[in-house]
Amino acid sequence: MDFQVNQPSTGLIHHPYQPPEGFEAPQPGVFKASTVFFPTVAAMRSREWQDKSAYTYGLHGTPTSYALEERLCTLEGGHQCLLLPSGLAALALVATSLLKSGDEVLLPDNAYGPNKSLVEGELLGWGITHQYYDPLDPQDLEAQISSRTKLVWLEAAGSVTLEFPNIVEMVRICERRKVMTALDNTWGAGLAFRPFDLVPGESPALAVDVSAHALTKYPSGGGDVLMGSCITRNPALHRKLMLTHMRFGFGVGMNDVELVLRSLPSIVLRYAAHDTATRELAAWAQTQPEFVQVLHPALQESPGHAHWLALCGDAPGRAAGLFSVILDARFTQAQTDAFCNALKLFRLGYSWGGPISLVVPYELQSMRTGWPTHLLRGTLVRFAVGLESVADLQADIAQALHVLR
Ligand SMILES: *Cc1c(COP(=O)(O)O)cnc(C)c1O
Repeated sequence: MDFQVNQPSTGLIHHPYQPPEGFEAPQPGVFKASTVFFPTVAAMRSREWQDKSAYTYGLHGTPTSYALEERLCTLEGGHQCLLLPSGLAALALVATSLLKSGDEVLLPDNAYGPNKSLVEGELLGWGITHQYYDPLDPQDLEAQISSRTKLVWLEAAGSVTLEFPNIVEMVRICERRKVMTALDNTWGAGLAFRPFDLVPGESPALAVDVSAHALTKYPSGGGDVLMGSCITRNPALHRKLMLTHMRFGFGVGMNDVELVLRSLPSIVLRYAAHDTATRELAAWAQTQPEFVQVLHPALQESPGHAHWLALCGDAPGRAAGLFSVILDARFTQAQTDAFCNALKLFRLGYSWGGPISLVVPYELQSMRTGWPTHLLRGTLVRFAVGLESVADLQADIAQALHVLR
């Protein structure tokens, strides 16, 4: 700056020092801004933020969020990415961007609960209707598609009950019927299968239209960040989502972005470790008489196992760290609650993907359109397996089972 500054108050605000360029370190810098400067009015008027060739305003991104978006595209095999303040906000962006009054959206009956709450509590009031389809029956999905159907949600595996759908067949149906597909990819995390290349070798690639991901889970890996992403491969679709994203003013904090950038390099190792431990625990849980059914897609008896095997293969690192058990119907909800209270290492808490194991008893009856025929009657408990030793976690469940004996 050529202008001569006399007072320190001004000098501290308009400081001329510029650090040298070329700083390189393992993690990208944390650039935080609401205001972004322009050199001239002409630059201010012409600056194009939508293609990420420059910067205009903190809400539309800084070098830090651009870096995370690109890395998430690498993780999931997409081409464009938007960041949102939570996983649920990512689901809401997809719905509000792609659906208008008079449209209908289809969701699997085992969809993430708050996504059901969104369609029931908000979208319905805007004239957008919904139907729930059987996640294990592509024909049921197809039968529910009408001329009003504009979006189909997919979830693999489904929330809480972890049925694994035939998403290859479902995406083919939706392509044929010209309906947009959005996958809630939180469970797969971009690692269990490729959402934009569902059948390797097939050309053109069989792909979902949008992959929404709760970065809160494995990409964060710490239980201390809320964030979501919407990834696409189609520039026009990305632009549509981006405009809604801009109009709603969705943004993320760069300190949170920093935490996800910090965790991403270890996600492959962490996901595989969660997976291996969970499969061991789930297999052991099958031998416990109090548990009449154990739900985990890698178990042969688990609903949709064959679809999981076909899509993911059974190598380590191809399933998330979740499994659910159905306790014998002779146990009351109060007894099941007592079992959960008795766990010491498995803490009571929502969400998953961090180092600490978590447990939640669910009242399935109130979550589904009816008790699914593929599930035995009883009370349901979902475990999220952290990174503790499997032997310790197994001993914890074993000691808690004593309250039922
Ligand atoms: C946790 C979760 C979400 C929502 O993520 P938040 O960041 O907690 O809002 C969405 N879908 C699935 C499947 C999840 O497990």
